[in-house]
Amino acid sequence: MPLIARASIDQVQAAADMVEIVGQYTELRKAGANFSGRCPFHEERTPSFSVNPVEKLYYCFGCGAGGNLFRFVREKENLDFAAAVESLADRYGIALEYEESSARGDAERHRRERLRALLEQATAYYERVLRDAPAAAPAREYLKQRGLGDDVCRQFRLGFSLAGWDKLREAARAKKFSDQDLLDGGLVVPGKSGQPYDRFRGRIMFPLADDRGRTLGFGARTMGDEKPKYLNSPETPLYHKSEAVFGLHAAKATAGREDRVYVVEGYTDVLALVQAGVHNVVASMGTALTEQQLKRLARVTRNLYLCFDADAAGLGAMSRALTLGRKMGLSLHVVRVPDGLDPADYVLSGAGGDGFRALAAAAQTLLQFHVRSALATHDLDKPDGRARAFAQLKGVLSEAATPIERDEELRHVADRLQLSAESVRYLLAGSGRSAEGGDAAGESRQSPQSGGAAAAVGGAHELEVRFLAGCLAQPQKGCAVLAGVDESFFATAETRAALRVVKARLEREAAGDTLPTAAQAAEDDDDGEALAEVVVRAGRERFTATVVDELFLRVQEAHVSRLIARLKVTAKTDESGKQGAELIRLQAVRRTLREAIRTIPVDEEPGQG
Ligand SMILES: [Zn+2]
Repeated sequence: MPLIARASIDQVQAAADMVEIVGQYTELRKAGANFSGRCPFHEERTPSFSVNPVEKLYYCFGCGAGGNLFRFVREKENLDFAAAVESLADRYGIALEYEESSARGDAERHRRERLRALLEQATAYYERVLRDAPAAAPAREYLKQRGLGDDVCRQFRLGFSLAGWDKLREAARAKKFSDQDLLDGGLVVPGKSGQPYDRFRGRIMFPLADDRGRTLGFGARTMGDEKPKYLNSPETPLYHKSEAVFGLHAAKATAGREDRVYVVEGYTDVLALVQAGVHNVVASMGTALTEQQLKRLARVTRNLYLCFDADAAGLGAMSRALTLGRKMGLSLHVVRVPDGLDPADYVLSGAGGDGFRALAAAAQTLLQFHVRSALATHDLDKPDGRARAFAQLKGVLSEAATPIERDEELRHVADRLQLSAESVRYLLAGSGRSAEGGDAAGESRQSPQSGGAAAAVGGAHELEVRFLAGCLAQPQKGCAVLAGVDESFFATAETRAALRVVKARLEREAAGDTLPTAAQAAEDDDDGEALAEVVVRAGRERFTATVVDELFLRVQEAHVSRLIARLKVTAKTDESGKQGAELIRLQAVRRTLREAIRTIPVDEEPGQG
């Protein structure tokens, strides 16, 4: 990874408008020092997402997502840190500088640039061959037969690879690319004789591009019966199969505007639909949508319309998509093309773009689709058929995106299984726990400071974060109390990280420094994750010096209580009696703390004390 100069990162941080960046994904309104809106990381109706526009931090009180500007771009656009900085630099017109010391980074960057150049050359070469070579006549005829015109083939830069063993290799070597370049780009295969040969021979070439339309690899299709029918680029530094989505660069604008994207299986389905005027369409290269693919699509729109063959394999794949999609807050629909046609045949057989849009208008949600498929595969006239259908549906219904959707399906299921909605609900509730439990792996994707971890330490997290927020809001008081705070007071790694950052910041402020730069903050807290919740809270709640005092006492009390709980266990087997004595001492400390909390003057709460 190229090392971007710190000064450049700071420049980007200074230039970027956090509200504008977040505003692309959710509507924000001013709320005190913060802006707030519905969370772009989870599905919700009431806003629990806040942005601090000055420090460029975000935090969601619903799902716990939080971090700095760069983290936000990384998460939403599925980029690594350097790419996130580059994308922001692009947007705000900042020329980045790179650390000169990073010889390895430079070499790596150079290597990628060279591979890009090679793939661009290869794309142009295959295009030329398809257009002009006499040997490509059958390919041109094939595309014409499939009803695909020149314009759309040109738009997607279709090409043809000649049948020889080293046609591309020769062309690339004439452009001064080495065999190693060709191997790295996945365009040749190492031969037994030591002589590499062309990977793609006698195939129609479909360039697989990144979001900006730059070729990363190829999908190649035979016209006859040769196997395999489809051959793709191998994994290379640029091309990763699990992320590949055909046509996304071309679909992006329309998909964003219409807030939906159609996902089909085949390259030619994409071409046929685009030709028919449906531009927001991509191909998934197989029915098993990966999380990375869904992430790429989610950057454009959360509404995915799947047009897959609904055979058994397709159903299984879609079931996985349903689970992934729910976790990612995506809305998934199923478009059913009649008569077992694929979308290309359907639009080309006279239905056209309007016919396809009509099908899409009648699309079911993926959940509805699943429920109906499960009900259709069992004999509901027989009790054991109903039992089997119900067993299959338990898991499916727990994947509902919203309670409303779930309830609707529940009623439908109850009706078909001849049960009351209440009994279905009751039966599901019994299985619901295990369904939620099976989710744990997916939930851990979210920042650990939310949900699980916080609950496990019994609200300690919340208390510690409020305390730190108070310290930030009352810097003088904060400085004074934090001087006596040790990291071991805090219950979790997240709040300990936040403590370090808050301490460092208050010290800098006390020394008369201004806000920390992004680079400074990054030293302690890579993505501003620990800090984000604290800062957002500081801008939301009204803290007085007394409140900070009280929170400090409570943090200490919680800390001492944790020590006591631990000692109570270990003291039983301690024969020296030292632990027993320590236990008694700590219990006295806790009494003092509790007394102090009880007698603290209550301010700004009239009617009490
Ligand atoms: Zn959220």
